[in-house]
Amino acid sequence: MVLVKIYEKKISKYKKDTSLKLIQYNLFICKYCFDRNFKNVKEKIIKYKTSVNIVRTENKECNICKNLFQKTILKIKTDIINSFQFVNDNSNKSIEIGSSIPFQLFEKEDNLRSLFKIKGVPNIKTHYNAIIRNEVIKETRSTLNHLNPDIRIEISVDIKLNYEIKYKTKEIVLLGRYNKYQRGLIQRFKKNSMNNNEHILNNNSDTYRNTTIEEIILDFLYKQSGSKDIKIGWSGSEDKDSLVLGNGRPFIVKINSPKYRNFQKMLNIKNKLSLNFLEIPTNDPRIYQKYKIQIKTLIKVIDDSLEKADLEKIICKLIGEIKYRFKNKIVKKKIYSSSYKMIDKKNFEMNLVLDSGIPIKQLIGGNEFIEPCLSNLLNKKCECVFFDIDDIIINNNLTGY
Ligand SMILES: [Zn+2]
Repeated sequence: MVLVKIYEKKISKYKKDTSLKLIQYNLFICKYCFDRNFKNVKEKIIKYKTSVNIVRTENKECNICKNLFQKTILKIKTDIINSFQFVNDNSNKSIEIGSSIPFQLFEKEDNLRSLFKIKGVPNIKTHYNAIIRNEVIKETRSTLNHLNPDIRIEISVDIKLNYEIKYKTKEIVLLGRYNKYQRGLIQRFKKNSMNNNEHILNNNSDTYRNTTIEEIILDFLYKQSGSKDIKIGWSGSEDKDSLVLGNGRPFIVKINSPKYRNFQKMLNIKNKLSLNFLEIPTNDPRIYQKYKIQIKTLIKVIDDSLEKADLEKIICKLIGEIKYRFKNKIVKKKIYSSSYKMIDKKNFEMNLVLDSGIPIKQLIGGNEFIEPCLSNLLNKKCECVFFDIDDIIINNNLTGY
């Protein structure tokens, strides 16, 4: 409205002028703003006795954008392609570029558009974003992805045309597996002993380094990905003196704001530990908390005994929705498959595929509310002697995830 008011003021001033001479009023517009607005519109409008002329200019300050386009685009493009996101890593990446520009520029454009009755063309910001996106894409091996880009670039420009560029990179979710070849290597420190660990770190970083499997994993991934924020979701642990052979113990890793997306996904420390990581292509970061696990349990019947027929009858009743209480809320998850193997009349093994997070001991013993519950189905009190996670199953097509 400001601009319209300025025109009206000028126009009404000239209205008082009784001469019939037409007053010329020139508005300087840069080539970008001109092309966007005046390609298909008359560049001149006469109101009262004033003629407002649009003059395409390269030397004067643009009446709409204050030369935002000329002054910032080249610099921003150079900054982006020289940023660490692109300089050290020329792999294919998907990007999105957005910007916030001062509202005064929108206002100026809106006022001019209402004066010249310009409709149905992109606004200043859409135009600005499109040019920067094109420039960056031309110079880097990247593609546009508006919804789920690897890198989200946000440019904010202030009224003095100073700008700031922020980069947000999509998290990487990895399915990791470790094999342990050295007895005595522990998976992680318990939380309440963290202070002691920090103490060790301060006194002797070499002692602290690689004292746990967790440390080795984090140390490796921090270096590889350049991230400063990595979280590990463990699925069970083994005794410190047990080895982990075969397919290895699975775990999930979430790497937030990685600097590098393509890095080494294997580490082998001879006679100690080997790590393997597989990237999980996902559009849903919740996959870090929500996945399926395959578990093996050893169950004992307390003060009673059982027959194969007892188990045969109830084993399929475990499959389906499961409800339990967690922090005063009812949580619903799923059990996908169940099978059993009798050992003797008091002990049996049970294998389950189920959503991660279900309290296994509760599912078997049922001391707190859980439905279904193995003890209740059998009508015999059971106890989970042991359970371990055999595998993590990730399927992006899972419904309900
Ligand atoms: Zn302009």
